Amino acid sequence: MLLLGGEDVERQTKKVIINQARLSIIQGDITQQSTDAIVNAANPGLMGGGGVDGAIHRAGGLAILEECKQIVAKQGYLPTGKAVITTGGKLKAKYVIHTVGPIWHGGTKNEAALLASAYQESLKLAAENNLVSISFPSISTGAYGYPVAEAARVAAKAVASFLREQVTSIKEVVFVLFDSKTYDAYSSTLEEVMTQP
Ligand code: ADP
Repeated sequence: MLLLGGEDVERQTKKVIINQARLSIIQGDITQQSTDAIVNAANPGLMGGGGVDGAIHRAGGLAILEECKQIVAKQGYLPTGKAVITTGGKLKAKYVIHTVGPIWHGGTKNEAALLASAYQESLKLAAENNLVSISFPSISTGAYGYPVAEAARVAAKAVASFLREQVTSIKEVVFVLFDSKTYDAYSSTLEEVMTQP
């Protein structure tokens, strides 16, 4: 593991290399990312909603919703911790991977394992589709109420252990954090997780 520098002036770059893949964090809008896939913090009905979900559907257009409808018609609501893939529609990203994070209930409802699963199932799907790069938002820390510091730790550990355990097509994972509070939480966590394997 190699720790590459700190934050630059734009609070952009904190990155680590794990098993030939780069894991980094930036502050920004995930709908503008040009990774092969961006991940949507969806809800089980896959019909769009508020937060990052609404932003992705607005920016990507109706083609995404059409595929989501077909998926739900075929397999029903998406369970928490699982993931599905659709077109990226009008987005720069070719694909959207929709996953459902857990609603925070105080930590007694298996939230950490479900959140880790949301990240790992998304990565698995990206690898199955031979994707090279993928961006994640901070799943569950908006409307679903997961405390940011704890969610950041779960997210960084889940991604780092996926990358450590296997070499796949995925060479770049980016956490795209919308606000500075979320960015700061992921920033401190990334170092913590990397220095304590
Ligand atoms: P959840 O229901 O999983 O909590 P939300 O969309 O409510 O999902 O929030 C998850 C995170 O996504 C929050 O940190 C929120 O600020 C952030 N977010 C909202 N819009 C965007 C966007 N366009 N790009 C990246 N992150 C976003």
